[in-house]
Amino acid sequence: MDHCWLTLPEQGPLDGLDASATPGFEGDKSDAKAATRAMREQLADLQHRLFAEGRQSLLIVLQAMDTGGKDGLIRRVFTGVNPNGVDVARFGRPSAEELSHDYLWRVHRHAPARGMITIFNRSHYEDVLVVRVNELVAEPVWSQRFDHIRAFERLLADEGCRILKFCLHIDRDEQRERLQARLDDPDKRWKFDQHDIEQRRHWDDYMLAYAEAIRRTDTPWAPWFVIPANRKWFRDYAVMRILVGTLREMDPQYPPADGFDPSDIHFD
Ligand code: ADP
Repeated sequence: MDHCWLTLPEQGPLDGLDASATPGFEGDKSDAKAATRAMREQLADLQHRLFAEGRQSLLIVLQAMDTGGKDGLIRRVFTGVNPNGVDVARFGRPSAEELSHDYLWRVHRHAPARGMITIFNRSHYEDVLVVRVNELVAEPVWSQRFDHIRAFERLLADEGCRILKFCLHIDRDEQRERLQARLDDPDKRWKFDQHDIEQRRHWDDYMLAYAEAIRRTDTPWAPWFVIPANRKWFRDYAVMRILVGTLREMDPQYPPADGFDPSDIHFD
């Protein structure tokens, strides 16, 4: 597969990477949209097979700064798949009950069943991002979590779950424009959250926290892909490509007829 993602260097914050890049893609917006549309059918077919086979599962982790485009990506990439085989789990501010358990407690129960694709809209990574940046727990507590997360994802992978983790990377200027658009457009205003403005002030801390989280949890069994996401059409194309490529590798098969010969079956 051509690389349609960015590679994080060994040091430095996430925003050392160009969020407007289109790595591995030569065409323009309409080419990308056409390519994404064409892959949608392949995705639908592969997802149908995965569901019918019922042996493997796929977990897609989506992380981004506010306005990074997680919701739009889910809408545009997953249009046309069978909703029976896809779950979306959103992870917002933890409830009192969730906070009274370990941070993976609320996450594990949403891991995909065999045959399913599950999308995490935010995830356990919030517990080393927002939690770290806002000092919601002390450093000795969050810094151990990279080890837990690697082990947790290893457990899922060993049990038949393929994992893809996407960081949708926008830059600070793009976020300003998108926040402003939410204020200006009455149809988008419901998405505006004062809390996002507060978090924006911590931009540099987030960029460091993201970079460390990605470096420390990028593993062969649960790889990270940093997707330049200023251009929505490239973001959708890149994620679709990685997704379809991965499902092809997983090669799900329709199961054979179980214990009967279809030609022996007669009914009126
Ligand atoms: P989104 O911004 O993804 O559309 P929401 O508006 O519901 O969704 O925001 C979810 C908020 O919950 C985000 O600000 C996120 O940082 C926060 N959040 C998620 N997980 C945690 C966590 N473990 N601890 C504290 N805050 C969290």
